[in-house]
Amino acid sequence: MTRINLQARGLRKTYPRLKVLEALESSPGAHLSAEEIFTWLDQKNAGLALSTIYRVLAQLAEIGILRKHQFGDGTHTKFEIETGKQHDHLICAQCGRILEFHAPKLMELHSGIARHYGFDLYQHTLTLYGYCKDPQCSYAQ
Ligand SMILES: [Zn+2]
Ligand SMILES: [Zn+2]
Repeated sequence: MTRINLQARGLRKTYPRLKVLEALESSPGAHLSAEEIFTWLDQKNAGLALSTIYRVLAQLAEIGILRKHQFGDGTHTKFEIETGKQHDHLICAQCGRILEFHAPKLMELHSGIARHYGFDLYQHTLTLYGYCKDPQCSYAQ
């Protein structure tokens, strides 16, 4: 069962919405694509079509329950539960692992750059690409 109160956000608790949230909450800090959510739910015989998952993800992102990311060349759309905590990402180019980090100094730096150019900053995103040291990553082998 999800921690997220859909009704408080003006959405009914429907089976597809609950299932999609369950997939995203299955591992802490999960960043998943529609296809990954589909595969996860399919293994549990949830019986949801990929097109339904796309629709639910778009709705939940629209009202701010999920955060949508366009990583890499823009073909990798990933979703995570919106925690409201400022963070950026490190992505392994080999295995696709996504790690989060929080660096307040970067935020200060970005704010300073925006101020210098007379911009009111409303969003800051930074993604670092590299290779992870996870023993399961084929890069390490
Ligand atoms: Zn890796
Ligand atoms: Zn994240």
